[in-house]
Amino acid sequence: MRKVIVAVVGRPNVGKSTLFNLIAGKQISIVKDTPGVTRDRIYADAEWLNYKFTLVDTGGIEPESKDIILSQMRSQAQLAIDTADVILFVTDVRTGLVDADYEVADMLRKSGKPIVLCVNKVDSFKKFGDDIYEFYNLGLGDPFGVSSTNQMGVGDLLDEVVKHFPTDSLDDTDDDSIKVALIGKPNVGKSSVVNKLLGQNRVIVSDIAGTTRDAIDTKIVHDGKEYTFIDTAGLRRKGKVTDDIERYSVIRTVAAVDRADICLVLIDATQGVTDGDANIAGIAHESGKGVIICVNKWDAIPDKTDKTMNEFLAKLKEKFAYMPYAEYLFISAETGQRLNKIFDLVDKVRESQTLRIRTGVLNDIMTRATAMKQPPSDKGKRLKLFYMTQTAVEPPTFVIFVNDVQLMHFSYTRYIENQIRDAFGFMGTPLKFLIRERKGGEEE
Ligand code: GDP
Ligand code: GDP
Repeated sequence: MRKVIVAVVGRPNVGKSTLFNLIAGKQISIVKDTPGVTRDRIYADAEWLNYKFTLVDTGGIEPESKDIILSQMRSQAQLAIDTADVILFVTDVRTGLVDADYEVADMLRKSGKPIVLCVNKVDSFKKFGDDIYEFYNLGLGDPFGVSSTNQMGVGDLLDEVVKHFPTDSLDDTDDDSIKVALIGKPNVGKSSVVNKLLGQNRVIVSDIAGTTRDAIDTKIVHDGKEYTFIDTAGLRRKGKVTDDIERYSVIRTVAAVDRADICLVLIDATQGVTDGDANIAGIAHESGKGVIICVNKWDAIPDKTDKTMNEFLAKLKEKFAYMPYAEYLFISAETGQRLNKIFDLVDKVRESQTLRIRTGVLNDIMTRATAMKQPPSDKGKRLKLFYMTQTAVEPPTFVIFVNDVQLMHFSYTRYIENQIRDAFGFMGTPLKFLIRERKGGEEE
């Protein structure tokens, strides 16, 4: 099931980042362990009561002129409307309402999305309490007075936010097509790939006059099977050049990946792997979804020999060493080369993600593995693995019971993972391992 997305929108300096950090708290998840990835906090997993959601900060760099503020706010608001389930609109009690606030409020109201209006910097209700009423003028319902720096009012605000969460399941229930997110920085060829696939396959035109979400989905039938390609929205709506293109593509990527089973990370062969690519790939990696890295524009690489692809592949694998499970494909949207291979690979990855291994078989593997390579020890105490079982799919998740979790070194877990992969492949999907201590389990 996908996570609810809450987007924070508002003028520069109203306190969006402060509020964002407060809500996200220590749970900031952005690609901590993924090398080469920006640490900018654009999105974070957050929790309130029993609700889990992804918080997205649409605010970018500070524009210099009023005109730019307005146009940037429009794209910000549009981005939130396209990607979010609930929009948190932040205003500033100290500056009061300004034109840009009205302008954005209009857009948000027309979108029909649930909006929660936050009036920030109400550090003292005595002093500013009365000023909050002015914000009713936006026509967005009750304003919530908050002080992000003093951590006041945030509980009530979040209570209101979660009230708007969709109550029905977020799964696309009557749709069992495989969902594939096509992600990558601008100009790597995402639209070209979708268009070429459209030309080569049967397309199901969705007649649901739906949300913007539907508008960016393309359903394709290949070999009698249905696939939904989720394009990172808005990149088709070219022309709206913003200073913040990178940030915007990250947010759209988060939203697309959230709804997908498998991520196709597109890379431009003519450029090699850039930081922008690493950022996008990091989002796919952190999501736990399947990953296929597609090197596009392969036609544009001149003078290829039989070694060219392998050399390129070696470089990619080095760059993406943190996701050794990723699959690779070299394609060309221009010529259509290997484009239909995408379907085969997607099928295989889907199979891996949903594969369940019986406990008996897993324990045979574990026993053999520990016999081949002795578990590590520390201060005279040796790690013992008692039992292993698979508890979930998507991604396949294994619990290993041991005598002492401290002794279960990362490298030994990786070793067990490799043994499992040797036996079953699990191509294209990450595997998750949970290490548990078995109480009183010193002796077998
Ligand atoms: P953003 O541009 O909307 O992300 O705004 P920031 O979070 O960067 O905050 C802009 C300024 O407002 C910073 O100096 C913050 O310390 C300040 N600020 C944020 N929240 C509050 C608040 O609740 N009260 C007061 N007095 N200042 C705040
Ligand atoms: P997007 O921003 O990721 O959707 O990228 P586009 O699909 O708009 O493509 C960006 C540019 O790359 C366009 O000029 C395309 O014609 C070009 N392009 C896309 N795929 C290929 C390809 O396989 N080979 C070559 N040579 N050019 C491509």
